[in-house]
Amino acid sequence: MKIYWTKINSIIEETPEVKTYMLDRPEDFTWEEGSHTHFALEGFNAGDKPNRGLIRHMSISTLPHENSIGITTRIREQCSEFKMILRKIEVGSEVAIFKTHSNVPLKREDKNVYLLSSGVGLATFRPLVLDYFDRADNVNQIHSLNIDSSTDYLFTEIFQSASDKNFTSQFVDNRKEYYDEVKNLAADKDGLFYVVGSDEFLMQNIEVLCEQGIKPEHIMLDKHERSLPDFLTVTASI
Ligand SMILES: Cc1cc2nc3c(=O)[nH]c(=O)nc-3n(C[C@H](O)[C@H](O)[C@H](O)COP(=O)(O)OP(=O)(O)OC[C@H]3O[C@@H](n4cnc5c(N)ncnc54)[C@H](O)[C@@H]3O)c2cc1C
Repeated sequence: MKIYWTKINSIIEETPEVKTYMLDRPEDFTWEEGSHTHFALEGFNAGDKPNRGLIRHMSISTLPHENSIGITTRIREQCSEFKMILRKIEVGSEVAIFKTHSNVPLKREDKNVYLLSSGVGLATFRPLVLDYFDRADNVNQIHSLNIDSSTDYLFTEIFQSASDKNFTSQFVDNRKEYYDEVKNLAADKDGLFYVVGSDEFLMQNIEVLCEQGIKPEHIMLDKHERSLPDFLTVTASI
């Protein structure tokens, strides 16, 4: 396993609680859309065993051609030690990334794609949408639905509906509107439904989608293949 040490080159305040840390891209480091990485702070491997308190899974919210590795996260007032350090970290600080992999690349199967997310879950989808804008081959259309109770919606310059690109973006701030819309979208029995958020959010979405007749194999989760059955077989059979 190769650990890449790299520097923070800028910090973007996306909303009052959400920041994107832009990291220099090491020359031999690449990734595909939908990737997540292990993002670690200085000192994580100083002892005999890695300090898990200084490591988090994070999606990469940029594409390689943007030339920076974007890590987007929410830092609330009440937060973990990891996020407390991150809140104070400065441009020029060193961080580490390793074990990078995409569970949710954009499938080009001539289908409609639905991106369902909660809060900063949208960060996982940003590169999928950019990849689709670059090259729409074999994707009929993309529809993004994001729920964020803060109403400080993310990446609104990219996530805005554009009929010429067959792209629809919706933001809602409450569960009723969100699940009503998921039910509407699930009228498309042949669509591909990507879901990103907390495990509880995934479970609830899978339940609604399956109730509406969406097949589990049409539901894409940012989970390792070995843990997919924990979500898709259990929930689908409820
Ligand atoms: C594949 C994958 C990709 C991921 N991608 C991302 C990503 O792109 N961005 C991202 O942000 N996360 C991502 N995550 C989740 C991430 O790994 C963290 O689990 C998540 O950000 C929570 O971070 P944290 O544990 O530092 O807790 P925090 O975010 O600090 O806290 C979690 C919750 O606990 C509360 N809390 C924390 N400490 C206290 C306290 N002392 N007292 C009271 N309440 C407290 C907070 O208010 C918050 O509601 C991903 C996870 C996976 C598995």
